[in-house]
Amino acid sequence: MPEVLTLGEAMGCLRSAGRVNLGDAVSLGVAGAESNVAIGLARLGHACRWVGAVGPDQIGELVVRTLTAEGVDVSCVRRRPEPTGIVVFEERLGGLTRVDYHRRHSAGSMVSVEDVTAAFADDAPQIVHLTGLTMALSPAAADAVRAAARQARDHGALVSLDVNHRSRLWSAEDARSALATLAGLADVVIASEDELPLVATAESLADQAAQLLEHGARTVVVKHGAEGATSYSTDGVMHSPARRVSVVDTVGAGDAFVAGYLSGVLDGLSETARLLRANTVGAFAVGSRGDWEGLPTREELPLLDVAPGEAVR
Ligand code: ATP
Repeated sequence: MPEVLTLGEAMGCLRSAGRVNLGDAVSLGVAGAESNVAIGLARLGHACRWVGAVGPDQIGELVVRTLTAEGVDVSCVRRRPEPTGIVVFEERLGGLTRVDYHRRHSAGSMVSVEDVTAAFADDAPQIVHLTGLTMALSPAAADAVRAAARQARDHGALVSLDVNHRSRLWSAEDARSALATLAGLADVVIASEDELPLVATAESLADQAAQLLEHGARTVVVKHGAEGATSYSTDGVMHSPARRVSVVDTVGAGDAFVAGYLSGVLDGLSETARLLRANTVGAFAVGSRGDWEGLPTREELPLLDVAPGEAVR
């Protein structure tokens, strides 16, 4: 059984450094928040299972082949009749990326409670990682996420929730009502500053974190982009600055951060060291192009300590 089980939609990813509406060149890859986390964990040497569905098409084949090549367990990936979803990233103005989704009624959005139950059939994982994004895909996917949280708790696994709000998929009001119960099942809640009000009603960030801790979370981790991250727990508040890196592409930074943080949990690191690893993996994501392609192996983690411009021989 893997150490981590995660659930979501992985899609074909078309990426252009030019203008899509002018027919400029695109490259084809794979993207998806939870599959990004799975790849990040696998690169760090952790056994990770990704649960999802792909269509009967070449993009679906690409998703499965890519995750397999990255060492992610795809034994519980379901083949469905609907097409595999596609996401288009256009690098519009330096540092600003436009994202178009083609994922409505996709195979991945139909992931179901049955898929989750099948994935829990062998021994329980140590961590089950879920996102608000998957909740937004369809009623079936929302049920699957809730089932995964409950089965995780029944099996004594730690539940990690990345709020991961996508305003293109659902409104803040819909997200707030759907995520309220889920957040109450999570041991670790991870969110950006602007996402935390979707799972807590208090005014200030600190009070929102305190509210989540009162409702059962053990740790609340708030990402601050280039400012790093802050963790709130009953042991207190801890801030960890971002690592210094030249920004190439910020897409996928949040997923990379989660992979680093959960890797620290699995390794039994202190909260300070978990945040350091999370910020380090996040920095690798922003320092390289693509959602997950630049994520580090465990051996590469110290590379950010090398002075800029030096060659590593
Ligand atoms: P996304 O949803 O685009 O993946 P996010 O909004 O969830 O991103 P951010 O808060 O932007 O996540 O970034 C996550 C983490 O990535 C930060 O906490 C930090 O560790 C790292 N990071 C982001 N931007 C930078 C940067 N400019 N320099 C160094 N590290 C960064």
